[in-house]
This record gives sequence, C-alpha cells and structure tokens, in this order.
Amino acid sequence: MTTIRLTNTKTRRKEAFTPIDPANVRLYVCGPTVYDRAHLGNGRPVVVFDVLFRLLRHVYGPDHVTYVRNFTDVDDKINAAAQARKAAGDPRSLEELIRARTDETIRWYHEDMDALGALRPTHEPRATEWIGAMIAMIEDLVAKGHAYEREGHVLFRVRSYRDYGALSGRSVDDMIAGARVEVAPFKEDPMDFVLWKPSDDELPGWESPWGRGRPGWHIECSAMSYELLGASFDIHAGGIDLQFPHHENEIAQSCCAHPEGGFANVWMHNEMLLVNGKKMSKSLGNFFTIHDLRKDRGIPGEVIRMVLLGTHYSKPMDWTAEKAAQAKATLWKWRKLTADVEPAASPDAAVLAALADDLNTPAAITRLHSIAAQEDGALLKASASLLGLLEDDLRGWTLPPVTGTGSGVMEVSGSATAIVGNVQYRETIERLLDERKQARMGKDFRRSDAIRDLLVGAGVIIKDTPAGAEWDLGADFDPARLGEPE
Ligand code: AMP
Ligand code: ZN
Repeated sequence: MTTIRLTNTKTRRKEAFTPIDPANVRLYVCGPTVYDRAHLGNGRPVVVFDVLFRLLRHVYGPDHVTYVRNFTDVDDKINAAAQARKAAGDPRSLEELIRARTDETIRWYHEDMDALGALRPTHEPRATEWIGAMIAMIEDLVAKGHAYEREGHVLFRVRSYRDYGALSGRSVDDMIAGARVEVAPFKEDPMDFVLWKPSDDELPGWESPWGRGRPGWHIECSAMSYELLGASFDIHAGGIDLQFPHHENEIAQSCCAHPEGGFANVWMHNEMLLVNGKKMSKSLGNFFTIHDLRKDRGIPGEVIRMVLLGTHYSKPMDWTAEKAAQAKATLWKWRKLTADVEPAASPDAAVLAALADDLNTPAAITRLHSIAAQEDGALLKASASLLGLLEDDLRGWTLPPVTGTGSGVMEVSGSATAIVGNVQYRETIERLLDERKQARMGKDFRRSDAIRDLLVGAGVIIKDTPAGAEWDLGADFDPARLGEPE
C-alpha cells in the first residue's frame, strides 16, 4: 500500500500517515462562514484538501474515507447583514432573512466549489442544526471545571488546560502578549474565550441552561467533529490563519470534554493566497470572488484549480493573469489529447508518489507534462484525475454561441469532443478554408488573406501542408468571431 507522508503542524515534522482505522479514515476541514460569496483564497483549502480526500480515497478505497466540512451559519457578520436588510425595509423576520441569506450563500458556495472540481464532502453540517450537541458539550465542560458562566456568557477557562498553545508552539503568556484578546469584565482571565453568549430579541438565539443565546464559533467545530467523527480522528485541516486562536481553542474544548480521545492526530494548514504580499480577505477588501473569475472573466473552474495546485500548499502564493493563461493553454492541450480516451486502469506511479509526499502538487503537475509530451492520453487522464483535473465533466469551459445560434454564453458540458470536434464549427471552418483555397486559385489574394485573418482571429490554428491546409482549435478559440469576411 502507498505510504502517505504529511507535514503535521502539531509536531512540525513530515510523518508517515497511519490511520486510526484504515476502514474509516476521517478528515475534518473548517468550512466557510456563509454570509457572502467565497473569494479565491477560500477556494485554496477546498482544492488542496480535495486532493487529500482524493488521495485517501485512492489509497484506502472510496468507501473508507469520511470527510466533514462544516458551514458556519451563525455568526455576527451574518446577523449584521440580516439586520441591515431589515433596516432597509425588508418585511421578513430576522430568522427568515438569516436563513434565506445562508441558504443562498451555501448554494453559491456549492456552485463555485463544484466548478473548481471539488468533490462534495461526506457530511456538510450546518452549525444551526447542531446547537443541542454544542450545549451538551458546554455543559460537560462546565461540569468538569473547564468552563464557567458569567452574566449569561459561558467562558472556557484557558488556564485549566495545561497544553494550551501546543499547536502553535507558544506559551499562554506569549499569546496574551501577542494577541488582541478581548478584555471583558466578566472574564476570569483575558485569555478565556466565549463558548456561549446571550442574545437579545434582535438576535437569533436558542434556549439553554444559561438563558437564550447562541454559540461561540470555536465550539461548533468541536461539537460537530465529535458527533460525526468521534473523540479521535485522523486529520484536521484548515488555513494557517485558523491555527490560533481557532484551532488552539478547538483542541482545548475537545480534549477537555473528551480526555479519552486525542482529538485530531494530524493537523494540516494551507498557506495563504496573497494580493501584493497581503492575505486576500474580506476585511482588507483586497479580494475577488471565484464567481467573478468564472462568470465575469470567463475563466473555467478547472483553470482556477490548476493555478491553485501549481504552488505547494505550504507556501504563500499569488494569482496572476500569466499563471491563468498558462494553465488554460496547458489544459486545452491536455483536453484535446484525452478527448474520448478511456483512462488507464491506474495512475502513473510518479504522480501518485508526488502526491503521497505531502501533497506535492507542483511535482505531480510537472510529471503530467512529461506524460503529455509522450502523448499517452490514457495515462494522462488516469493520473490527472488524482488531482481532480481532466475529468469528463468539463466544469465551466465556456464558449460563446456560434454566429446565428442565439445570444449569451453557452456552458459546454459532456465530453470534451463537444468543443474539440464540434461539427458545427468544423463545417464552418472547413467551408472557410475551402473558400480560401478557391480564392487563391482565382488569384484573389486579398480575399484569401482576409479569410485567413478571420480564422486566425477566431483562434483557429492553420497549418499549410503540401497536402492542403490542416487546422486545429487554439485555447482562445471563439466561434463568435467566425463571421463572414468582407
Ligand atoms: P472563513 O470563511 O474566512 O472562515 O474562511 C474559510 C476558509 O478559507 C478557512 O479555512 C480559511 O483559512 C481559508 N482562507 C481564508 N482566506 C484565505 C486566503 N487568503 N488564502 C488561503 N486560505 C484562506
Ligand atoms: Zn474549525
């Protein structure tokens, strides 16, 4: 069996991965707060850990991996968005507004992440559907002396957990010095963090032993991972920005509530997607959404995925137009090479080895290039699918409609031959080439050149050979530009 090696943030080493139960390998990834469209940075953990999910499924079997990624659908930003709508005159209740907004955001999220070729996780729990489990865990923490109630708030007593800070390798005192901890009169210690907070009538709330209120963010992941994966599971992942305080707090809660389990064995963190050296984030305002890239800039989701996988997950990266153009040209070539080709029975050993070596996606892509250079479409297809590339579903490669067939953008789906061998385009292109030949024979070079310019302008590659003209579609092929030459 392939040995997978992963860099464990907890030990700061690359370690051989041994699942607790190979028949049920368990992975938890912190999911999005659903109040707005996902930005490109949010796509990075989704794509990176989708490759991990695919690799685990390949090695242990598709039915032997459980992947949980939550939706945080209770949050102050969500409340603020709903309150703003209400203030603007929306007649719906706050609850209705919140539910409508989070439902819609989850739909958008699925649309975007499906387009990036990410498999749906086994479970996608919504925090609001697990409030009972959170209350039970908080009660248990209070009973065990790890948490206390003050003025309707329940706080976790950080000093009661000796290993607090072990994940980030910092002492509690260092963390207090470095972090912007919220000092509140009801805290025993400034490091203590909120498990439960009171809600007034203007906020969503649930009945609890501490009055009507709502959970803190960190307890969500502890409660939902316990319910769906148990007190110990294999891998917990998320962006490096979550390491402290979110993941430290999850560990403290889970290990104190369930000292019999070890919570997560392996911790993995993806580095950030940057814009001019700064983390892409909603709060800095330096973001663009995955939807913008796909719909406004017409970049296929598969191209976005390839760019994200072009850098190792442990390194910061930028998005550039050059990277996108290069990925698009490569995928176009690979798509043509694999159109209607049956994938080989197993992936290339070197591609698998690269991924098993701490998800070395850039090395895996380099290897795919050499398989493509050998024109082995079957092996290319089987190997690329480990990275979620070149799958049958075209995932958002879009082409404008052929002249005269209507307006708007046509989303191509089905086999890649839909693009590569589309008969409609073939007939038009071959007719134009034939007209060019006639014009040449009649020595009307002005017309033959005009037809040539038209074809080239539409992204058709023409090669004149002694046997006649051969043609191919370039990655920038745009059939809308195949109009008549003047
Ligand atoms: P959020 O909705 O902000 O909690 O983020 C959802 C996920 O996206 C988390 O795993 C974050 O770590 C991750 N994330 C947020 N911003 C970036 C970024 N600029 N680059 C990479 N990952 C990010
Ligand atoms: Zn989490």
